[in-house]
Amino acid sequence: MAEHESLEFGKADFVLLDSVSLDEFMANLKLRFEKGRIYSYIGEVVVSVNPYRAMNIYGRDTIEQYKGRELYERPPHLFAIADAAYKAMKRRNKDTCIVISGESGAGKTEASKYIMQYIAAITNPSQRAEVERVKNMLLKSNCVLEAFGNAKTNRNDNSSRFGKYMDINFDFKGDPIGGHINNYLLEKSRVIFQQEGERSFHSFYQVSEGLTTDIKKLFLFCQLFQTPDKSHQTCVYDSSSSINDSADFKAVTDAMKVIGFTTEEIQTVYKILATILHLGNLKFGSDGDVTLIENSKLVSVLGDLLSTKDENVEKALLYRTVATGRDVIDKQHTHQEASYGRDALAKAIYERLFCWIVGRINDVIEVKNYDARVHGKNTVIGVLDIYGFEIFQNNSFEQFCINYCNEKLQQLFIQLVLKQEQEEYQREGIPWKHIDYFNNQIIVDLVEQQHKGIFAVLDEACMNVGKVTDEMFLQALNGKLAKHAHYTSRKLSPTDKNLEFDRDFRIRHYAGDVVYSVVGFIDKNKDTLFQDFKRLLYNSSNPVLKAMWPEGKLSITEVTKRPLTAATLFKNSMISLVENLASKEPYYVRCIKPNDVKSPLLFEHERCKHQVEYLGLLENVRVRRAGFANRQTYPRFLQRYKMISEFTWPNHDLPSDKEAVERLLQGCGFEHDVAYGKTKVFIRTPRTIFSLEEQRAEM
Ligand code: ATP
Ligand code: MG
Repeated sequence: MAEHESLEFGKADFVLLDSVSLDEFMANLKLRFEKGRIYSYIGEVVVSVNPYRAMNIYGRDTIEQYKGRELYERPPHLFAIADAAYKAMKRRNKDTCIVISGESGAGKTEASKYIMQYIAAITNPSQRAEVERVKNMLLKSNCVLEAFGNAKTNRNDNSSRFGKYMDINFDFKGDPIGGHINNYLLEKSRVIFQQEGERSFHSFYQVSEGLTTDIKKLFLFCQLFQTPDKSHQTCVYDSSSSINDSADFKAVTDAMKVIGFTTEEIQTVYKILATILHLGNLKFGSDGDVTLIENSKLVSVLGDLLSTKDENVEKALLYRTVATGRDVIDKQHTHQEASYGRDALAKAIYERLFCWIVGRINDVIEVKNYDARVHGKNTVIGVLDIYGFEIFQNNSFEQFCINYCNEKLQQLFIQLVLKQEQEEYQREGIPWKHIDYFNNQIIVDLVEQQHKGIFAVLDEACMNVGKVTDEMFLQALNGKLAKHAHYTSRKLSPTDKNLEFDRDFRIRHYAGDVVYSVVGFIDKNKDTLFQDFKRLLYNSSNPVLKAMWPEGKLSITEVTKRPLTAATLFKNSMISLVENLASKEPYYVRCIKPNDVKSPLLFEHERCKHQVEYLGLLENVRVRRAGFANRQTYPRFLQRYKMISEFTWPNHDLPSDKEAVERLLQGCGFEHDVAYGKTKVFIRTPRTIFSLEEQRAEM
């Protein structure tokens, strides 16, 4: 029983609801939120509702209450799940992972930081200096990654625009000795365009606000924000922000120094940020057939920043080198191609910078000098903070990738939760009962299957020589997927007015229907960056910059392979992420955003209901209840309920605890509702647990 709180706070575990209906679920969630109980369980899954206010539940005293305790002994909390993962890792030598999901602003990143803080607080009792150093690095890395990977959006002032998976490695004593970060799909388009009311990545503003004017001049940073060009936005100045960029700048710079970024590296980072801003101001014009740079002054600024010759910058912006047979020629860009190239360059430089920063952090935090033969296996806790399901007014390639990621994670969830249940029943010698649930593998296949899946059709379209349009891609999808139960488009359902001809297709996701517009799919998937830019950056005399672009080493005639498409890269990274998670014992945190106005008081019923549906929480409760709602070891069960039976109070004289529990439950008339495993008693319905609790309370 998860409930150590009074029922006035609702049921701490949704498994204990009287009946599994959406209405009951919502009523309980709302009641708990209003009573300031932001965490609840579904079995071992934590459901969290963003409180949008400071809660006094993360301090040292709370940490102490959860340390070493079993999940059900304390009110639901992130710390309980962190402790469970830690115990599994330490006692049973298991690699574990904590998967945090939910939509933007639901509280994933905050949750991941509390989990890390908890782990940092409970480890290294002997205060070993090296372990303290590692812990410090791991915590500091968050600050740097948030500066470069987060931005203010209309949904969240500190929205993570990338997916993050972080491993923390532990030694045989259970102390952190290192870690590793994987990052997924940075929303790089943000560096060239932001929606009304949004900002680019924090880093731009931090540097602009935090650097002194002199240093900004040195890095050619001046005049960047004074004249925001509305026609071509790079970084919209945002003075009304709730964010303190100059204070953050100091914290980030300190963190970078602690992590070990050199002065030269930090300066290169500034130069790259400045480069991107200047690229945003770069305009092309035409003179007859010839494309020109209108504000050609900028070319030498870029040359300086990139430590390369001005004429090379100009050439890379206006021409591309193409190999035709044995000949190599310079082909001039059209106006449109030049603009496309400039934007692609800005996006690519930022993405590369971000990956390089992650790589630098990894160099520092990776486990060093650990000899498994001497010390035993080093074990891992992984924390995944990744974008939840997105259903916007207009859904494009990015939403498609993100929602595919969530289908993969849901599939893993189904497999693992069911697998874990099954394994426990086997271990305990209890017959396995089939559980009916919606298996979303069919949707995962719809997206990723070789030759037939949507990604394959998209890649095939992108491989075609000649002009391929987004509409042609949609036609190809319609041809291949006409019969698929989870795919439709206007051509296939002509009466469906919500779908536009030649533009939309709809996927029936496990979480609900989403209409995607194909506009931009081809370009985003090809994600072309002209080779000339790679060579330009590789030939920089700045060694830090050069090191970011190793493939620029190849000359045009050596480049034979087409780079992998964005869809393929993403698919591969998801497949390996899921493989990695599947090899670990998983714990889940499902985050819910209570309202769109960041209010601590408002529980918007429809908004929350929608999230409960698409997080599959009701399904989760059903799966959990279809098996056994509750299981406890015999001694623990006796400890809690022995006072309700004369056979067991104050002590029993039966040969084993198991028999004592059997006798107790028979006495209450519950024997039809339970199964006796080797070490645990399994209770099927929550009603039985309630009744036991009531009897206990009456004693
Ligand atoms: P995104 O997908 O956009 O990155 P997210 O799920 O990571 O969103 P967070 O950045 O963790 O969302 O949370 C958004 C904001 O909500 C935080 O900046 C903070 O103001 C508030 N918040 C979240 N969790 C808590 C909490 N446990 N206590 C107090 N405030 C919180
Ligand atoms: Mg986040």
